[in-house]
Amino acid sequence: MNSQQVLGLILAGGLSRRMEGGDKSFKLIAGKSLLAHVLARFEPQVPEIVINANGDPSTFDEFRKRVIPDVFEGFAGPLAGVLTGLAWAAENRPDITHVLTVPCDGPFLPRDYAKAMITGLGASDIAMASSKARTHPVAGLWPVRLREGLHQVLEQGVRKVDHWTADYQVAVVPFEETNGVDPFFNANRPGDLQQAEDLMRLMDRNQIVSVEENTTVHMLGLPQDNNSSFLTGPALAPARIRESFHSSSANSFTETGFDLSDSDFFLDAGDVGLEDLQGDAAFDAINDAVSSLILTGGKVLSLGGDHSVAFPVISAHADHYPGLDVLQIDAHPDLYDDMLDNPYSHASPFARLMESGKIGRLVQVGIRTLNKHQREQAARFGVEIHEMRDLSGVADLSFDGPVYLSCDLDGLDPAFAPGVSHYEPGGLSTREVLNIIHNFDGQLVGADVVELNPHRDPGNITAMVAAKIAKELIGRMLEDS
Ligand code: MN
Ligand code: MN
Repeated sequence: MNSQQVLGLILAGGLSRRMEGGDKSFKLIAGKSLLAHVLARFEPQVPEIVINANGDPSTFDEFRKRVIPDVFEGFAGPLAGVLTGLAWAAENRPDITHVLTVPCDGPFLPRDYAKAMITGLGASDIAMASSKARTHPVAGLWPVRLREGLHQVLEQGVRKVDHWTADYQVAVVPFEETNGVDPFFNANRPGDLQQAEDLMRLMDRNQIVSVEENTTVHMLGLPQDNNSSFLTGPALAPARIRESFHSSSANSFTETGFDLSDSDFFLDAGDVGLEDLQGDAAFDAINDAVSSLILTGGKVLSLGGDHSVAFPVISAHADHYPGLDVLQIDAHPDLYDDMLDNPYSHASPFARLMESGKIGRLVQVGIRTLNKHQREQAARFGVEIHEMRDLSGVADLSFDGPVYLSCDLDGLDPAFAPGVSHYEPGGLSTREVLNIIHNFDGQLVGADVVELNPHRDPGNITAMVAAKIAKELIGRMLEDS
């Protein structure tokens, strides 16, 4: 079988009870109807598409497609739609052997859907798509020869797709997420439309990028400190680090030779507006901003904020770089299961990340505050810790895949970086941190500098250290592009 023998069928016959009235196919996402999005992706994949819909067919006129109403009375659900397509093909297109269905509310239909389904079908009777470990009974490849059997079971009152398909051999065809988006995302509720629009915005940017090589590193400020357990202040840090970064007391070159006044290398993306946000809302805003920048094809250097911002920032990176490893410089392991009843605390981001299962290795350097609970957490998550009292392995840090580096300034000794909320003597020197940045083996794809507290930073000493570290991180990201 090849794609020329497949009829495309969009299932738009449902009642869309959850969508607060109106025909779901015509709800708008980014200025285009759901159905127009589905068609734009489906059209290049099959020789002909028909739409299964009930009611007045002229409402679909703009799409210039044949509209076929259910051949089985009484809104009998997706099986009636499938039967309608099979019956129409049998009667009108004897060259067609299979009908490929898609729901009218899935605007992210994979661009290789038909090809993958035909390949995946193999010797089975029916193929069904799956994503995120869920099978999608309305996204299937159905042989025309099964139409009579299907008609019979509908007469017997069967309505659920899997009750019918249980009698056949079904090949499940898995589809991967693209940029963290489920290809079979479907818009059921009004809120889903806004979500789809946001996702589409991100994906559209991605398409622009794929044609343009882009090595720019974007600096992104994350002025948030409402997850700090002890002092506030880090929300003021991005502005102070920028001042030092651009201070005419130093020049714009990294030690490794990149001139950061060149806008091909470096751009400032400003701050994420976090003033009135906290909890999930703040993290969503951070995740969105970081994802958008990654989707331009560049890399991101984030300026905290307290260390809680590392959770959404690294999550966004992990979505785009599967198997991402994390290198954390810090006095503290930040692995608390729960600190002061705040799951987002700056003492917990790496516990949340490890629980998410999204990242590969977590390697920590400079740690000097382990207590019993955090030792247990580290063992539970398999964290590789280079404690401050033994740094012998640090010269040989090595990673196979993409690496994210998170630099908490309290990893440095307070003699070098006094402008932090938690003084923890006995830490790294500025030079030791720079050496790690320059020398670890691996590919740096993203980084942050967090926990500067300007209230404790007379003379901007620590802001200057943060700016220096930021510059060398940017240089390393450019080197690894
Ligand atoms: Mn710390
Ligand atoms: Mn930290």
